[in-house]
Amino acid sequence: MVYSDVLNEAKATQLSALYDAGLFEKHNSFSLIDFDALATAVTSLRNAFPDHFMHSFAVKANYFLPVLSELRLLGMGAEVAGPGELELAFKAGFDSKKIVFDAPVKTRAELARSLQLGVTINIDNFQEFERIHHLRTAHPGGSLIGFRINPQIGAGSIKLSSTATLTSKFGVGLQDPGNRRRLTELYLANPWLNAIHVHVGSMGCPLELMAEGVRVVAELADEINRLAGGKRIGTIDMGGGLPVDFSSDQNTPAFTDYAEVLRASAPQLFTGEYHVITEFGRAVIAKCAFTLARVEYTKIMSDRHIALTHAGAHNMMRIVFQPGDWARRVTALTCDGSRKTGRLVFQDVAGPCCFAGDIIAHQRELPLLDPGDFVMVHDTGAYCFSNHFNYNALAPCPVYASKLSVADRVDISVVNTGLSVESLVDCFS
Ligand SMILES: *Cc1c(COP(=O)(O)O)cnc(C)c1O
Repeated sequence: MVYSDVLNEAKATQLSALYDAGLFEKHNSFSLIDFDALATAVTSLRNAFPDHFMHSFAVKANYFLPVLSELRLLGMGAEVAGPGELELAFKAGFDSKKIVFDAPVKTRAELARSLQLGVTINIDNFQEFERIHHLRTAHPGGSLIGFRINPQIGAGSIKLSSTATLTSKFGVGLQDPGNRRRLTELYLANPWLNAIHVHVGSMGCPLELMAEGVRVVAELADEINRLAGGKRIGTIDMGGGLPVDFSSDQNTPAFTDYAEVLRASAPQLFTGEYHVITEFGRAVIAKCAFTLARVEYTKIMSDRHIALTHAGAHNMMRIVFQPGDWARRVTALTCDGSRKTGRLVFQDVAGPCCFAGDIIAHQRELPLLDPGDFVMVHDTGAYCFSNHFNYNALAPCPVYASKLSVADRVDISVVNTGLSVESLVDCFS
């Protein structure tokens, strides 16, 4: 794949605003989330689907409170996969009707709390069903509740994020012997089971494979409703997982592309007969942010050029550990945030973590980096700096947001201050 190193006008303007705010001098590494781009992404999501769809944001992609609040104001709900994400969503002000609790391993206490709050609950397995069955007597509540189904239709190109294989750890395997009948019986016997959920993997899955998973689950819902002689299942949660193009500024595939494929395979989602929930994370926010890191030193090892920077596994873990699947574009900047020019040289961009594989870009052709320059890593809005990794007790870096104000000026606000070494020491004391 070619990682075209372009700097569009919006990003160039944001970089000069960050420089004017003194942030290049102040920080070794920091990130910027473009809230205007985020609003555009949410609008394109909402426009791609009919109005009866409730779009919840997969909070694990980026759970900073100001980001969640912004998404709430843009009309989204929140899909949460753990007790911390659940409380963050509440703190961000999401209505319980717009929160979906999807944790793969839910404790009794967490289930009781979500029933009490009335959030939507997707059940992972039959044992969890039994727990909810008992807990419901104490907390009847108004939750939408259903099973997460693994349609077992196969993997995409990235094994670690493929969730619909025969042996995936998520949900109830629909093709395993007896499960289809057992699920149907449970739905028919328990009218409080009124929803159904599927999420076919993230990134690396072709649209047709994702849509096939949704089709299988929508047909199961149709069948259960037919047997019940009425609308037993009223809600279909079709998950997220739309892939993102990290090689260019293009938003492909677009939400409209997926909607078109889905309309052909699961038309019942589009008629209004079901309330539909979506759970997109990466496709909403990945391309709305970038990360900057100072080049501290440069060296040549044998004939390998290496830039030693402050971007590494601590703030972009997946890029480091699975470079083949998650590589990003990198642009060389000078210390004032303008694009660096000059002869192109193949270089490795290394991070500050103390292991040899801490490289965020391998043999990238860039203008030769010097100490004091910055590297700009594109498309880091999802599953990067927002999923900090505490290796070497390196602190999370500050995060800012940009918004165009009326006079087309870029206003910069603080999303998160990061942690000082002192507060990091407190965390581990
Ligand atoms: C991670 C996840 C999502 C979001 O996936 P994206 O690829 O970020 O869109 C949605 N639903 C569930 C259950 C998930 O685990």
